Amino acid sequence: MMLGGIEAGGTKFVCVVGTGPDDIRAELRVPTTSPRETLAAALQFFHAQQAVHGPLDALGIGSFGPVDLHPASERFGYITSTPKPGWANTDLAGVFRRGLGVPVAFDTDVNAAALGEWRYGAARGLDTFLYLTVGTGIGGGALVDGRVLHGLVHPEMGHVRVARDHRVDPFAGACPFHGDCLEGLASGTAMAARWGRPAHELPTAHPAWTLEAHYLAQALQGFVCTLSPQRIVMGGGVMDQPQLLPRVRHELQTLLHGYIQAPELLREIDAYVVPPTLGRRAGALGALVLAERVVV
Ligand code: ZN
Repeated sequence: MMLGGIEAGGTKFVCVVGTGPDDIRAELRVPTTSPRETLAAALQFFHAQQAVHGPLDALGIGSFGPVDLHPASERFGYITSTPKPGWANTDLAGVFRRGLGVPVAFDTDVNAAALGEWRYGAARGLDTFLYLTVGTGIGGGALVDGRVLHGLVHPEMGHVRVARDHRVDPFAGACPFHGDCLEGLASGTAMAARWGRPAHELPTAHPAWTLEAHYLAQALQGFVCTLSPQRIVMGGGVMDQPQLLPRVRHELQTLLHGYIQAPELLREIDAYVVPPTLGRRAGALGALVLAERVVV
């Protein structure tokens, strides 16, 4: 069996050929510029790999969004209303299905990353958990009772509301749709806009991190209370700052205030809110898991 996987991110596309983490035959990272340029580069990569390894059995795509996931929809496999210039109403699944002549599985980038962590990483053996990425934007994917959560459209966990004190944080918010939703207040984009420099340049003792942990923990409280996840995996560039995760755990415990009597939320919190173990490959490996599901 030979599978293809694409993590279609807002800043780069990661394309892989193989069957899993121990069998990646080739990998391409290409910046997300225009659909024409980026999709052509990805197609060219898969054509070249097929010439070497033989035809792919299927391709999985985990894409930034919002996306259309309804198989019966005319726009299934499209990126829909994204604010990213040039990418609204872009057909992804169809381009690769026609271009490569293989079955294509399609989901959100964060659902794909969740699947990758579930099969190979930090969420192995669980049936209900959450994967949250905090980077340029904020997004969440989830498995609930063993199934990837889609529902009406798909979750948009970055766009929940969080409470804030305007005296402490007068920043208007960076989300083009909602202003001060979670993504508007706590994404890497929001941090850079509020503090005048990128998150990774802010010192450990900077008040930015207290505020960041507070916003993220509020959102986690909401997700813990609604989804009841068995674990929360937090990835993305902003989470690369090692001081942030312990603060998020502590703040989550403070906010929950002992209300939910599960050991995971009390003395086992360090094993409950965890970093991904697949690092930057979670999305692409999850895309391979998606692909496996449509092999005919
Ligand atoms: Zn928003």
